[in-house]
Amino acid sequence: MHPINLRSDTQTLPTAAMLDAIATAPLGDDTYDEDPTVTRFEALAAQHMGTEAALLVPSGHMANLIALMVHAKPGDEVVLDVDSHIHYYEVGSLASIAGLMPWALPSHDGCLDPDEVAAAIRGRDLHYPHPRVLCLENTHNRSGGRVVPLDRHRALCQLAHDRELAVHLDGARIFNAAVAAGVPVTDYTQHVDSVMFCLTKGLSCPLGSVLASSRDFIHRADEVRRRLGGGLRQAGIIAAPGIVALEHMTGRLAEDHAHARRLAEGLADAPGLAVDLATVETNMVYADHRGSGMSTEAVTQRLAQAGVVVSGRPPHQIRLVTNRHHDAATIDEAVRRIKTAMGG
Ligand SMILES: *Cc1c(COP(=O)(O)O)cnc(C)c1O
Repeated sequence: MHPINLRSDTQTLPTAAMLDAIATAPLGDDTYDEDPTVTRFEALAAQHMGTEAALLVPSGHMANLIALMVHAKPGDEVVLDVDSHIHYYEVGSLASIAGLMPWALPSHDGCLDPDEVAAAIRGRDLHYPHPRVLCLENTHNRSGGRVVPLDRHRALCQLAHDRELAVHLDGARIFNAAVAAGVPVTDYTQHVDSVMFCLTKGLSCPLGSVLASSRDFIHRADEVRRRLGGGLRQAGIIAAPGIVALEHMTGRLAEDHAHARRLAEGLADAPGLAVDLATVETNMVYADHRGSGMSTEAVTQRLAQAGVVVSGRPPHQIRLVTNRHHDAATIDEAVRRIKTAMGG
């Protein structure tokens, strides 16, 4: 039985067009700013984000870290949500490498509460760290790929700017958010000071992320990237599939969202699992397995044995993510296997 891999959209493989673009891209040494494919890609990425400039970075994590290091200096405070990728998954780099103080707030369905943010931004006092940056994340990974609504996004940006904080958007999946909200990406990015997006999630590139902002910010970001060891040589091999992604892969994310909905609806009556359909807005489905009486690990193992690979989100959830390798028939087969495995 061929396993169905619903672990993540990071499991996507490059398309044939991407492999072709990699093989034929004109290349040069990017640390001398001489890779024409990188130059072309960064201009295209900036255009998509509605910013003056953009920088190709090896990973989303590094792009977030660079952004924070440009916005703030050691001892400064970063306001973010406790479940954000930066706070939860980035190995404490904001503290250990950037020397920043996190002020972590609760996440409500992937959204920060403007009143809680306002209360967290203290007035200036010589005893306090200086609050410099508000981080937003959209779509919000740990809440199940939820979309931060545009009005909430605008309100949070306005609030931060009124209090003289910069706003960094972790937009690893910002194209999923824009497609789901039915607005251009720039409706979100125009309100922030810097944005990161990943080429490696639903967009299917083998590696690479982008940091986009003003020309001056990106110039400083380039220096920090090199300081972190992220200077690149013939990076056209990363940028070439990135161009294919921006030109051809963003629109199709709606298919992944439709498949996630089909999956969620299919699992609605799966034994031992509970899925809240209202939370399924993009390409992720979180299922609560408490009804099964099993541990998260036992559930993921049982599903793997039944030919469906998912991620555990202990203590009581599993995460299933759709991507371009799944069609409706694959999703229906996954639902059948999961129901059988959980029923038996
Ligand atoms: C994947 C992800 C990142 C980090 O990207 P990497 O390229 O894996 O370092 C950052 N933020 C969010 C929300 C992500 O999902």
